[in-house]
Formats: sequence, structure tokens, C-alpha cells
Amino acid sequence: MSAPGPPLALLAELTHRCPLGCPYCSNPLSLERVRDELDTTIWQRVIGEAAALGALQIHFSGGEPLVRADLAALVAHAHAAGLYTNLITSAVLFDHRRLAPLKHAGLDHVQISLQDTAPDNADRIAGYAGGHRKKLEAARLVRGAGLALTINAVMHRQNLARLPEMIDLALELGAGRLEVAQVQYYGWALRNRPSLIPTRAEVAAAVAIVAAARERLKGRLVIDHVVPDYYAKRPKACMGGWARQFINITPSGLVLPCHAAQGIPTLRFESVRERPLAEIWERSEAFERFRGTAWMAEPCRSCERREIDFGGCRCQAMAILGEAGETDPACALSPHHARLLALAEAESAAEPPSFTYRRYANAPSEPAPA
Ligand code: SF4
Ligand code: SF4
Repeated sequence: MSAPGPPLALLAELTHRCPLGCPYCSNPLSLERVRDELDTTIWQRVIGEAAALGALQIHFSGGEPLVRADLAALVAHAHAAGLYTNLITSAVLFDHRRLAPLKHAGLDHVQISLQDTAPDNADRIAGYAGGHRKKLEAARLVRGAGLALTINAVMHRQNLARLPEMIDLALELGAGRLEVAQVQYYGWALRNRPSLIPTRAEVAAAVAIVAAARERLKGRLVIDHVVPDYYAKRPKACMGGWARQFINITPSGLVLPCHAAQGIPTLRFESVRERPLAEIWERSEAFERFRGTAWMAEPCRSCERREIDFGGCRCQAMAILGEAGETDPACALSPHHARLLALAEAESAAEPPSFTYRRYANAPSEPAPA
């Protein structure tokens, strides 16, 4: 296989520590511990390697990246390497003392997640009292400092009714972009799927609300909308195709083609502690396994969309079918699509069970963080 082009972006998961407990968190159930986190020197080396490889952007994520005291040093390093820097944060630890060094370091953009517009429900969903108020304060600080702001609104059956208010709130906060991110079912979200999955009618209503808002707010607010693909006819091109655009590095240094890929137990992911990033990107077995189209079986192999959606999501095929090489069951051409749809319809029609919050204590066989 010929060498891949450069990645577009590096998603740097600096830590899995987070004060919140969102039941849809995309982190794996087995959260990594603080003693295994990469140190500043290794992150700086890896950031330089990503820039040399041709990446244009770096997204500092987690967990909550603000728990790392070296965040500003890493942002400064990325900025000096010519990368566009984005901080993905819950923002409950954000204040003017954290803002000043980050701005000085060259931070370009901040993405703040909101759980709801109703404060009590937002705090209940996050499992963190008083969080919503802090997030709004942080969003205003970001805009006051002249930094670009995206609001990431994670929507599901327990807040979707307030989508119009969420759009108004993003506008009021001065965001340039709103991501209406309906939950995707990996990691903790897969565990909490019956508590989160909306009905097909609720999803259709949200699509109409977003379409109308896009028209009304043209030139003022860009709205991205991710819909739950359980109700789709064709899958999305997950991560723009396996190992085509993104590199995700976990807190301990494992290099993944997407944040959910550790759910595929047959793949062995390599570490930046052991091998240069460029070699992992270009030649590691896990990245090569589903890159391109040669790995595909029918119906993808002869499908005209195989270079468009790349067969959908490998992690979803693994989670639902137990086989990562299958066609994503979100595709109506998959022989397993009806099963996925039936599951979504049954779970969304039933009473939602209580959340299993994303906490070290709720992770399977996980000791508390060191
Ligand atoms: S989704 Fe919630 S729990 Fe997970 S890292 Fe983000 S803020 Fe923390
Ligand atoms: S059959 Fe495969 S390539 Fe064709 S639309 Fe479905 S997932 Fe995409």
C-alpha cells in the first residue's frame, strides 16, 4: 500500500481525569491513570513530530485538559510549531487565571461543552453541581479575551426538547460555531444508551429545527449537526475514514486512529514512547488494518460509496456485531441494519434507566486514579 498523506489533526488526550461524570463520555470504560500520563517533554516531542508530519491543527482534550498544569507550555509549543491550537474543555476549571497564560501561549480557539440550557438538568447530566453556571462564565471570558468560541451541545433524549433554547444560548454567548452533537454510542455512551437514545420522531424534529436555524442565522452562527446514525440509511465517513485524517493519542501515549478504537480488542496500538509518530502513522499494523478499501467485504467492496464513507465506523461494527471488519450496521445495505433499528426503537420507547456516570469508581475493574 502507498504511503498515506499527512494527517489533518492531532487529538491530544492529555489526561482522563475530569471533575464531571457525563454518562455519554467518549473516553473508554477503562480510564487511564495519572501515573501513566505522558510528561511534558514527551508531549512536546510528539507535538513537534505531528507538525513535521504535516498536521495543521491540534486539539487539546481529555478528560479535562485544564487539570494539567503544563497545558499552557504545551499550547505554546504547538503554537511555535505552527499548529492551530484548540482547547476542548468542560470549562468548570476555567477562570481568568487560567485564561491569561493560555492566551499568551497562542491559544486560537476554545470549545466548551454544555449539557443543557436548564441549569439543574445540566448539572444532573454532568454529575457536577454548579457546573453550568461556571461554563457560562467561562464562555464569556473566552469571548471577552477575543478568542474564537465553539459551543459543543451534546444532545440526547434527556435534553433534546430544549434544542431551540440551546441555539439561542450559543448565539447569546457569542459563539461562532455550535456543534449540535447528538450522542454517538461508544464508550460510556454505549453503556448508557437506553438512557440517552431519542426516538426517530425526536431526531427528525431536531433536524428540522437545525435546518431552520441555519437559514435564519446565516452569517452569524455556523451550526454543525451530528445525528445518531442508528436511524440513518447510510453511515457517516467515520473520522473521514480510518487512519486518513486524524491521530488520537491517549494520556499514556497510545496512538489510535479514533478515540473509540480501543474497543477493538484484536488490534494492538503502538505507543509514542516506543516509536516515532510518523512511523506509527505510516506503517503501524493497526493503522494499516482498515485504511483505504482493500480490507472490505461485500456489500462495501462493490459499493459506489466505498470511497465516500469508507464502510462507516469500525468501532460500531465491533460494538454491535462483535466484528470490526463488517459493514457498519448503520448502513441499510448491511444485513444487520434492521437489528440496529429495532434496538433503537425499543430502547427509545422505554422509560430511561438511571445514568451510570463516567467515574473511575464505575469503570470495570478500575482502581481509583493514583
Ligand atoms: S464528556 Fe464529560 S466526563 Fe467526559 S471528558 Fe468531557 S466533560 Fe469530562
Ligand atoms: S455498503 Fe458499505 S460502502 Fe456502501 S454505503 Fe453501506 S457502508 Fe457505505
